[in-house]
Amino acid sequence: MKLIFEKGMEGRGCTLLPPSDVPLIQLGEKHKRKQELHLPEVSETELSRHYTELMKRTFGVNDGFYPLGSCTMKYNPKINEEIAKMPEFADIHPLQPEHTIQGCLEVMVLAEKYLSEITGMDRFTFQPAAGAHGEYTGLQLIRAYHEAKGNVKRDKILVPDSAHGTNPASAVMAGFTVINVPSTKDGYVDVEELRKAAGDDTAGFMLTNPNTLGLFEENILEITEIIHQAGGLNYYDGANLNAIMGIARPGDMGFDVVHLNLHKTFSTPHGGGGPGSGPVGCKEILADYLPSPCIIENDDGNYHLEFNKEGSIGRVKAFYGNFLVVVRALTYILTLGKEGLKHASESAVLNANYMMHHLKDTYPIPFPDKCMHEFVISLEELKKEKGVTALDIAKAMLDHGIHPPTMYFPLIIPEALMVEPTETETKETLDEVIEIYKKIYKEAVDHPEAMRDYPRNTIIGRPDEVAAARKPVLRYRYDGASN
Ligand SMILES: *Cc1c(COP(=O)(O)O)cnc(C)c1O
Repeated sequence: MKLIFEKGMEGRGCTLLPPSDVPLIQLGEKHKRKQELHLPEVSETELSRHYTELMKRTFGVNDGFYPLGSCTMKYNPKINEEIAKMPEFADIHPLQPEHTIQGCLEVMVLAEKYLSEITGMDRFTFQPAAGAHGEYTGLQLIRAYHEAKGNVKRDKILVPDSAHGTNPASAVMAGFTVINVPSTKDGYVDVEELRKAAGDDTAGFMLTNPNTLGLFEENILEITEIIHQAGGLNYYDGANLNAIMGIARPGDMGFDVVHLNLHKTFSTPHGGGGPGSGPVGCKEILADYLPSPCIIENDDGNYHLEFNKEGSIGRVKAFYGNFLVVVRALTYILTLGKEGLKHASESAVLNANYMMHHLKDTYPIPFPDKCMHEFVISLEELKKEKGVTALDIAKAMLDHGIHPPTMYFPLIIPEALMVEPTETETKETLDEVIEIYKKIYKEAVDHPEAMRDYPRNTIIGRPDEVAAARKPVLRYRYDGASN
């Protein structure tokens, strides 16, 4: 397939610009381009066909089953898009005068109120643009808290080995030293090891819950108490709130700060690189340090953006975050309502357990008793006995028109496949998929050699993943030079 830059012809185009409604300004030489700008020059037909062709080559939740564990690829209701594209939301400018965007500020105030209620927190910021960005922001709040108390010695963050990979990475980025806490053989945080690791150098503890094995930490109250006793703060990675939304609240479990992924649990399309939103919620003790600007309600009922917030860690992103993602999340919360959110979580957990239950006699499942919104398969034995890997199984799924689960994650399970069906799949789809999974496993056992050829019916089969990750070609050179 040709790139858009390789199509079209000079002088061809399809732009219809509205008449300018602002005065013309001549740029000085200093600000002008030195080289001519190359843009694709294509007709509207070419453009439309190009994107249709691209669309056919991708796979999304609208194409079929997409159980990408830890990513919550749920169906995103169209009403969210209807609301987010209203010109009153979509056509605003971040530097518009405050009195003209009171409704937009109210959206953020309301979203903050609902998310605080859902998580048991007191305040929220919507600046972080992704989950990992939220982790970084939350850790800065923890740092500011200890610094304000003069506890400069507290520079360690404790992270269980069942945490999401971004947790230790964010802690390092935020300038902390990471202390790894091992899991028990049942997949939970080893409480005795945690007790040993916690001390007067502990800044905080980061818990992914449910953890990456799809398990809810059974000793959660004891865990948060150990950290508080040691003088540290508790961070809840709530990127996957899908299992507990409307049912249990991190704030009630002893957590001081939490991030959510609006682009997972609260239904914004994702997977194509954004935009996302990773709001951070915190208890009152951390509220002073939240990023600025924050929204304040004046006595006259108007909302005001406060930029000079004393004690704030400052900005973590330009302006106010990805506002339209917040609009979608608020729409989602309001359309589902209190009961609907709870029902979504219950269905997500039920669907995952249903699939796990029907697969556990076929696929080895390390923790097969019960799971939350996702479960993990290990193909270690299959690899040893038949030479068939998790990758081979995943590739075979593509030929059945379904998306593979997350592969090789969590890292503590060899040859892992992590399945998260989400609440938006019907029982019929789950039944179909269960049959496909079983069929593939049988083929792997009976004809292991055939498994290396999959997929046979997709446009791209098995790309060189290392080269794709390490040497991506992200730029088109008109002059034909190599990147
Ligand atoms: C997805 C995820 C993250 C990271 O979120 P991004 O938006 O991709 O940065 C962090 N923690 C958990 C548990 C996640 O599932």
